[in-house]
Amino acid sequence: MEIEAAVFRKVLEPLSIERVEIDAPSEREVLVRTVATGVCHSDLHFVDGLGRFPLDRPYVLGHEGAGVVEAVGSAVTSVKAGDHVVACLSGFCGNCEECLSGHPNLCTGGIVTRPESAKPRLSQKGEPFRQFIGISSYAEKMLLHENSLVRIDPEIPLDRAALVGCGVLTGVGAALRSSGLKPGETVAVFGCGGVGLSIVQGARIGGARAIIGVDKFESKREMALRLGATHFVNSSEEEPVKAVRALTGGKGVDHAFEAIGDAKVCRQAIESLAIRGTATIVGVLPPDATIEFPWMAIRPECRVHDARMGGNRFRTDIPLYLDFYRQGRLDLDAMVTKRGRLSDINEAFRAMKAGEVARTVLTFE
Ligand SMILES: [Zn+2]
Ligand SMILES: [Zn+2]
Repeated sequence: MEIEAAVFRKVLEPLSIERVEIDAPSEREVLVRTVATGVCHSDLHFVDGLGRFPLDRPYVLGHEGAGVVEAVGSAVTSVKAGDHVVACLSGFCGNCEECLSGHPNLCTGGIVTRPESAKPRLSQKGEPFRQFIGISSYAEKMLLHENSLVRIDPEIPLDRAALVGCGVLTGVGAALRSSGLKPGETVAVFGCGGVGLSIVQGARIGGARAIIGVDKFESKREMALRLGATHFVNSSEEEPVKAVRALTGGKGVDHAFEAIGDAKVCRQAIESLAIRGTATIVGVLPPDATIEFPWMAIRPECRVHDARMGGNRFRTDIPLYLDFYRQGRLDLDAMVTKRGRLSDINEAFRAMKAGEVARTVLTFE
């Protein structure tokens, strides 16, 4: 079947809207009609040539998708046609050591894509395309393994639900699952984009005493404060480590989160910690990045760790976070700062680079 998709062919070049062939679902695969997709930083990273995947074939990018199931393979048991679903790049096999020890976000089973030797899920006139992390949501339809999907309440608007598939899951989960945040502790969030603002919200839901948003764009101040930050530091005007220390009576914060993927900012997060504080690196750094800091900058018994996809068990976490949304505790409406159609994808990347948006959501109907 032919669908419309945004195709990536070359680093630093705009995506082009093209007709692409999508295969029928095999045994455990699900064909989903895409209703909405968030535009996440990882896609832009990839376009900018900072991805970790081979560039040997054209890609259909996008991984923050939500939609309605159209068809399922013969062995699919978790969803059926008509179900509303959210895709997640933490597709899990259910059999590997990580899955079985309760960390399916770190699955090593490699089930999300078809094997190289199999017919590709996406192609064009016989030329095989690569699917992005088993999802490819910048397209009218997605073909995925059933373990890359979760069924959600059909009453929840899919354009809001899509965000929980990556950015919100990563941010809220970093605060509630990965960091070990306890009620009453203090938090600084370095980087107030889609993920950083989700960390702010997660810290608020988790009962943080103070939440300091840090960003180099003044335009992020209002949004950070609206979503739960108690303070905001403009790091292009103030030295952020000093500012965070000043706001905490010199102590530093119990939890610092890095949500940009910048080695210098990681250092700032580490240097902002209080005694026994924890720095959680959420941003994706370039593969060769080195985080350097003087030993004396480390307060006693601090910890630095990285968090992957909010430590999620997305089959239960996505419905949980959507419950928070329904109850008014997680604000997804404010996170959608811009809307568009698939053809607006390149403009969405530009707006993200310029720090103009928390999230752009593209819709298909
Ligand atoms: Zn993402
Ligand atoms: Zn696994």
